[in-house]
Amino acid sequence: MNKTLLYFIIVLLAACNTAQKKSPTVYFGGEIVNPTSEHVVLFKGDIALDTAYLDENNRFSFQLDSVDEGLHHFNHFPELQYVFLEAGDSLQLRLNTVDFDESLAFSGTNEQINNFLLEMFLTNELQEELIYKYYSLEPEAFLLKIDSLKNLKLESLNSLSNEAELSNGAMEIARAGIMYTSYISKEAYPFYHKKKKGEKSIHNLPPGFYDYRANINYDDKDLSYYRPYYNFMKYHLGNLSYMDCKNDCGTKIKMAKNQLHFNQHKLMLIDSLIKQNELRDNLFRNVAMDYLLKYDKEENIEIFIKEFHQLSGNNRHIHEINGLYDGIRKLQPKKELPEFLVYDSEGNKVSIKDIGKDRKVVFYFWSAPEKKHFTNMIKRINVLKEKYPEYTFIGINLRTEHSRWNNMIEVSQLDKSEQFWTENFEEVAHTLIVYDRNRSIIANDGIIVDGFANVYTSF
Ligand SMILES: [Zn+2]
Repeated sequence: MNKTLLYFIIVLLAACNTAQKKSPTVYFGGEIVNPTSEHVVLFKGDIALDTAYLDENNRFSFQLDSVDEGLHHFNHFPELQYVFLEAGDSLQLRLNTVDFDESLAFSGTNEQINNFLLEMFLTNELQEELIYKYYSLEPEAFLLKIDSLKNLKLESLNSLSNEAELSNGAMEIARAGIMYTSYISKEAYPFYHKKKKGEKSIHNLPPGFYDYRANINYDDKDLSYYRPYYNFMKYHLGNLSYMDCKNDCGTKIKMAKNQLHFNQHKLMLIDSLIKQNELRDNLFRNVAMDYLLKYDKEENIEIFIKEFHQLSGNNRHIHEINGLYDGIRKLQPKKELPEFLVYDSEGNKVSIKDIGKDRKVVFYFWSAPEKKHFTNMIKRINVLKEKYPEYTFIGINLRTEHSRWNNMIEVSQLDKSEQFWTENFEEVAHTLIVYDRNRSIIANDGIIVDGFANVYTSF
């Protein structure tokens, strides 16, 4: 065959290929064995694009006219996982909730990149323990280990890209995941090393230890919601804040004991380093949640929130953060229990405040999807009931369908007068600040004694 003709055919074939992929419609569907919720929600960043209900065969499907290409995630409560989507994709998944991530498999267009990202996710989970061991090594030996783990992953990506046709976007996400995962270990190294070896100060690092920092992209919009990248940012900011404080504030400040001061460093660093809106807002939020949920003194959290507003007053999560701040203030000792409405077993609305009237109560929390936690919690509460007969222990249920809640109370033979159901998790989370599932609230005659107690450590 003449060369020009051959060339012509190849061009034609390539053109056909692109034409086939041209229709931007995206189909994403699949089957969920042992579903734990009625639906699947597809997200791009923090925006829910669509919700698909499971049919009688536990199958779901999304059909989207177009997608903003790149990393998405889907949520089948209470789990979520990533899915990489590009225009024209037709992708199927199958998973069993008993082993959510381990059972998940993709097929269809872009199956290779999706299965690869998942494989990396599982590999990283498996390697956590190994890397934790490596933190005891001297820096040079540590770097060798971390780089060799990284190189193995890069090789596996290279051989995939030789076999399969990966788009540039897909290659970049996969590569970034591998690189930032290895950077996380390096950012964390000085602190874990010190802790594991019981050294008094941060180990001297060889020049070049942080060379990779020259490659960090602080404003990569495509990666904002990607765990390896986002987690890297958290470790990196933690590391830099520590070093900033050590250099600028010297030994006067005992950082571990001064959470407010340390988190102020973090706020300033995010302000100066991160310009990409979503990443910036999310990192600011992370610092706020992290700090506020340590339940510092009221005057300290007031200083913190003021500064937060100055730097990030227009944060997309500002209502959540203000709500949390407000909730924490209202749960301080000697304040009245909030007027928060819950349902009793007959469906009547009752206020938390009324439940706490004229008696000593401990409120604890549980939800049906977390079965193991529920079983442990009930065991623990039974022990506490024996030990503290003067208290009434009140169970507040979260994130459970009403009928399922009723059923669980019957089956577990719980005292109905001590069990209450809530409808809106967000509202409970904000008013009663339930982020830690072992949290409890101790009150005496409607007045808070300890709003941030823990069923295991406070008694
Ligand atoms: Zn400082």
